Amino acid sequence: MNSTNYDACPECDLLLKPAQPKLGEKVHCPRCGLLLSRPRKQSIERTFALSIAGFILFFPANLLPMVGLTVLGNANTGILISGVIALYNDGMEAVAIVVFLASILFPLVHLCLSLLISGHLYFNCPNRYLVAWMRWMHHLDEWVMLEVYMLGIIVACVKLMAIAPLKLGWGLYAFIALIIITTMLTSSLDNRLFWLRIEQLGKESKNAS
Ligand SMILES: [Zn+2]
Repeated sequence: MNSTNYDACPECDLLLKPAQPKLGEKVHCPRCGLLLSRPRKQSIERTFALSIAGFILFFPANLLPMVGLTVLGNANTGILISGVIALYNDGMEAVAIVVFLASILFPLVHLCLSLLISGHLYFNCPNRYLVAWMRWMHHLDEWVMLEVYMLGIIVACVKLMAIAPLKLGWGLYAFIALIIITTMLTSSLDNRLFWLRIEQLGKESKNAS
C-alpha cells in the first residue's frame, strides 16, 4: 500500500523491500553483501538488566567523590557536578551547559527510557507511549557523551597530580563502570527486534480491547 516503504542499503544505496527476517537470522544486502541486521541474543533481557545496572550506578557516579585532593592541609573532594559548577563560575557557561547535558541529564533520561522500554517489552505490557519513547531514545543516542567527560577528568587528574597527591574516589570507579554499562547497553539493543515487539504489543492490545 505504501510505495515509499523501502529501506536503502547504507553501503550501495540499493533499495530493499523491508525484510521480515525470522528472529535470529542474519540479513545481508543482495548486491554488496553488507550485513544489514544481526540478531543479538536475548536482546530484551540483556537491555533490561543493563538498564537496571546503569540506573543504579548513575547515583554513586554522580554523588560520590571522584577525586580527593589535599592542599596545604585542606582536604577537597570533587563530585561530577562540581566540575560543571567550576566551569560555569570560570565564565565558561556554554561549555558547562553542554557538559551538564551530555554527561548528566541526557545519560539519565536515556537510561530511564531504555529501562521503561525494555521493561515493558520484558513483561509484555503494552503502552501507547512506547513508540514515542523509542524515538526520543534514538534522538538522545547522539547526545550521550560520557566518554568526553571522562577525557576531561583524566586531563584534570594528570594536571592535579603535579600539584598534590591525588586520591581516586568511588565516584570515579562508578563512573567508569557506568561508561562500560552504557556501551554494552547500546550494543545489546536490537533495534529491529524492539520495533517488531512494540508493533506486536500494539496489535495485541488493540485486539484485546
Ligand atoms: Zn548494498
